[in-house]
Amino acid sequence: MTGRLARAAAGPHDGYRSRFHGRIVDVHTHFSVGARDAAVAAVRAAGLGGLVNLVGAWPPQPFEEWRAGWSGDRTVAGMVLFHAPDLSGIGSPGFERDLAADVQHAFELGARGLKIWKQLGLWLTDAHGDRVAVDDERLAPMWECAARHRRPAGIHIADPEPFFQPVAPDNPRYTELLERPDWSFAGEEFPSLETLHDEFERLVSAHPATDFVALHGGCFIPFDRLHRMMRRYPNLWLETSARVLDLAQEPAAARTLLCDFADRVLFGSDYARMAGWLDQPLPGEYPDLTRAFYARNLAFYETGLDGIGNPFPFQSEATIRGLDLPDDVLEKLYFRNAQRLLDLPAT
Ligand SMILES: [Zn+2]
Repeated sequence: MTGRLARAAAGPHDGYRSRFHGRIVDVHTHFSVGARDAAVAAVRAAGLGGLVNLVGAWPPQPFEEWRAGWSGDRTVAGMVLFHAPDLSGIGSPGFERDLAADVQHAFELGARGLKIWKQLGLWLTDAHGDRVAVDDERLAPMWECAARHRRPAGIHIADPEPFFQPVAPDNPRYTELLERPDWSFAGEEFPSLETLHDEFERLVSAHPATDFVALHGGCFIPFDRLHRMMRRYPNLWLETSARVLDLAQEPAAARTLLCDFADRVLFGSDYARMAGWLDQPLPGEYPDLTRAFYARNLAFYETGLDGIGNPFPFQSEATIRGLDLPDDVLEKLYFRNAQRLLDLPAT
């Protein structure tokens, strides 16, 4: 997909330089084991002040392996790791105890939070072959451990609404789904988008001491429901990645959401450097594309410019207009909230 981004990378604002003078931390990136140098290159190309590597292998690897590959260059402050626990043994004897021990161990080794993959709710099954609901109580020890350690759980539930609709020419994400048929959840075998969101809301409600970061612009929850949930649950946080297109299509709702809950929103891009994955521009090899990718993200939040390229042109090559967020919101979105939630150094 790098080629597609390269083709689309000639947008008029791809050279945009952030007007924001403070620190910018990207809380949603994926770098494979040992890719710390690539992460440093991305940080430098984009002018970031740090990032969160949500890791990304499936099945998940032990946290030690991630941590070992992440040591090295210390010149960039605020490059931290989350831990992705392996949930595949749910329903087998000792699972809950082992899960709590695994999560606790990762926190003790320095994991700043948990990353929960969308398997949960969509296709993860237990030892009996039954679908595991997002709010399955057998996962409670994990949420409680996160609360005890004051570490957030970044959670990706569901996917964009068109991924739950038939793959047909009138589907707004048709070409993308043709390329990635595994992203379609349109069959009887999958729960509906609303079911997943209902389960997620019950989860957030049942564990008020756990901070849940709804990844991808709030796990694709419709903006009116998301606004209501943010108001109702002070333990719910919102991360922005890969939903720029949706935010741009409902600019008033998006702006209201980001401004009304400015103390619980986090900037993320979903920048990935994982072999065989969503091959976004490779830092080092394609620094200009890395810069363009971030320029599109930042121009979207910071300016009211029209004609900004979608950071993910495979979703749509239609250009977008920026949200022109106020400086105080940008500062919280880009850095202050992440600093507070993840215990990042202040400078
Ligand atoms: Zn991601």
